[in-house]
Amino acid sequence: MIKVVNVNKSFKGLKVLKNISFNVNKGEVISIIGPSGSGKSTLLRCISQLEEIDSGYIEVDNIPITKKGYKKIGIVFQNFNLFPHKTALENIIEAPIVVNKINKNKAVELGKELLSKVGLLDKQDYYPYQLSGGQKQRVAIARALAMEPEIMLFDEPTSALDPELVGEVLNVIKELAKQHMTMLIVTHEMKFAREVSDRVIFMDNGEIIEKGDSNKIFESPKHIRVKAFLSKMV
Ligand code: ADP
Ligand code: MG
Repeated sequence: MIKVVNVNKSFKGLKVLKNISFNVNKGEVISIIGPSGSGKSTLLRCISQLEEIDSGYIEVDNIPITKKGYKKIGIVFQNFNLFPHKTALENIIEAPIVVNKINKNKAVELGKELLSKVGLLDKQDYYPYQLSGGQKQRVAIARALAMEPEIMLFDEPTSALDPELVGEVLNVIKELAKQHMTMLIVTHEMKFAREVSDRVIFMDNGEIIEKGDSNKIFESPKHIRVKAFLSKMV
């Protein structure tokens, strides 16, 4: 479904992605793990067209994502990025109304459905400052889902959360996995990554240095740097 082929990306001469290639099948969940600064966020940002790639190509359903207006990809960031002056419901219905041009009643219906899916229907009129970090992130997930993406990207969705709030966000993502949402998840939650993902990609210094079946990588990583990383994480 997603094809990433020989992707390179530099920032002012610093090579951040070096010949990145991998495929994602429909319904598959892939975790991207690796040390800080290895290029994980940049990779997700390239896939969601927030950054332009220097060379190589990225296709979704055989269509290059460089085609303008491509909206099949949803992304959730570490820091929620909700509109602070809009309620939970308003945050969710904004893009469907403005971008997808669906009428307000329909958008509200969809928004409520999604809020109930992430367990927050009772918070529809709350502003972000009135919500916990975990609740904000669940609203952010609902907002991304409101655009009916075929693929969801998560960039460390629980890294900004207090430990006791991590579980509620991971549970929403696990629920999406059960419904066979295609997902790429950058995370430092190794137990979760192992549980939820079919495959794992390990990045270090702009390169994929190991990729494969999730259980295999967690049980018996081949590369010494992957071994070292995983032994530090658990
Ligand atoms: P990760 O998400 O794995 O921590 P990033 O993709 O955020 O890694 O960063 C990879 C490298 O690219 C880092 O060295 C970072 O400083 C650099 N980088 C990321 N974004 C930019 C940018 N917009 N301008 C310049 N350098 C950047
Ligand atoms: Mg990052």
